[in-house]
This record gives sequence, structure tokens and C-alpha cells, in this order.
Amino acid sequence: MVRTMPAFMHSSLERLSGHRNEPARVAAMLADTASRYAVFVGDRLLVHAGPAGSGGVWWHGQSVLPPLMHGVEPVLLGLDDDGVAHFAVLAGDAELPPGPGQAAVDLRSIALQGLVADELLGHMAQARALLHWHVRHRFCANCGAATAPGEAGYKRVCGSCQAEHFPRTDPVVIIAVVRGQTMLLGRSARFASTMYSTLAGFVEPGETAEDAARREVEEESGVKVGAVRYVMSQPWPFPANLMIGMAGEGLSETIRIDPDELVDARWFSFDEVSAMRDGRHPEGLEIPPSISIAHHLIVRLLDDNSN
Ligand SMILES: [Zn+2]
Repeated sequence: MVRTMPAFMHSSLERLSGHRNEPARVAAMLADTASRYAVFVGDRLLVHAGPAGSGGVWWHGQSVLPPLMHGVEPVLLGLDDDGVAHFAVLAGDAELPPGPGQAAVDLRSIALQGLVADELLGHMAQARALLHWHVRHRFCANCGAATAPGEAGYKRVCGSCQAEHFPRTDPVVIIAVVRGQTMLLGRSARFASTMYSTLAGFVEPGETAEDAARREVEEESGVKVGAVRYVMSQPWPFPANLMIGMAGEGLSETIRIDPDELVDARWFSFDEVSAMRDGRHPEGLEIPPSISIAHHLIVRLLDDNSN
């Protein structure tokens, strides 16, 4: 399955961000039997077993809530067009082993295999990132005392020093560098041996996304990058990244890889990159799958440069 957009970019629920600090409203939504719940069992999403793309991720509260919690309260995802509230909850394997007609599947596999409808994936990214954050922030970073969730899951408050803690989103730049009729792609040791992708790295404190992109490319490949422009972004909930997709102009050609980051990097001709995209590269090389922003950045740059 080749996607026309990266995964996790569709959001269909109204997030109600201006109403999460209304405890009575949130409590009424939790008490409403019409409300629906996405259930994570550890890092895996509980899905209704069924045909691919059938979109079965929502559960009735009475079927999932009693055995739940794992120390994390329900997180509000938003309202659908009918005004039905949707939450995400977390269970451990022992609390909620998948029953008949259920399967617990990691979100990356769900996206790769197209197991649920695309328009749900943005909210599953929202759910996974928030639940992951709650599990790892039960104690105050300021004083060490226990924290408690607030604002329908969008903050935690320390019971001792009252410090407020908010969910994090970590910006990552990912950049397609073009020089003439070639594109710079590299292979990390974590990749399949045939896969080459755009270079990427975390934005550091006090750094623009543009500078981070230039720095990462030079550190990893030795290539200097000039003008940089924003192309698109993608939530990537492993655990809570925002991928900032950019295009850049390569100013130098010589490649010196950082062996801690890459096992190889090359300038590929556009013809070669097209062959990699289409699965007809003579060496069997390929670009990342279409759930990733890397795939779409590469395709976008190919299209831009063929017009
Ligand atoms: Zn504290």
C-alpha cells in the first residue's frame, strides 16, 4: 500500500483544547455511556480484529474501563461530529489480555499494514504520545513528589510543590538535500541493508529548525547545506516527535560520513531515486515506506525537479 500522505497526519476529532480545564464537563463526558475509548495495552493498540482498514479502534467504556488504568487516567482526544467524546486509556498486559475478536498491535505495524482507517491515525498518535508521557512522568522533576493528571490528561501537577508539567513534543528536522540533479541519502545501521533515507536529527535548545538541518547534515555526511525551506511536518509518536520536513541546497559534494550515525551516504541521481521509489533499482535499493515523511519528501523533491 502506497500512501499519498505520510501516516498520522489525519485528525478528524475536535480537540476541545479550550475546554480541558472544565472538570465538570470532562467528568460528564467520562460518565456518558456514549463516550468511546481507544485502548493501549502497553505500547500496543487494542483493535477489533477484522478486515484491513475497517477502523475498529473504539471501545465502549463498560467493556474496557473496569480492568484499566495502570496509574494513568483517561486522556481526552476530542469530540466527533455527533458530539461523542473520545478518550484514550492505558492497560498493562495482565490487566487486559486481548480477548476473542481483539488484537493488540503496535502502532507502526498498524500504519504500515493499513489496519485501521487513515483518519484515525492522527488521534492514535495523539493518544500514544500522551499516554507514554504520563507513564514516565509520575513524579515531579522539581521536587520528586508524586504528580497527578489534570486538564483531561494534558498536564500533571505536583502534589507537593504544585509545579505544573506539560506533555512534550520533540522537534526533529528531516531534510532532503539536492545538488544539481542528485539527492543526498544515507543509510543508518538501524535500516534494512537496502534502504536509504533523508538525513534527520533533533533540534537543540536555542537553535532554529533551519540551522539544525544544516548542522545535522554536515555532522552526519560532511556536506555543507545552504538555503533551506520548510516543506511539511508529521507527528511521529515513537514516542513524541514532530518531524519537520525540509528541502535544502547542497553547497559541497564530498561525503565524509560520521560512522556513529551512518554506515553509508551517497549522492543518488534523480533517475536512480525514481528507480528506488518504484522498486526497480538494479541493486535493489529502496527509499523508506510511504508511512514516513522521508518517503514523501523524496517524492516531492523528485516531482519539483522534474517540472
Ligand atoms: Zn514538585
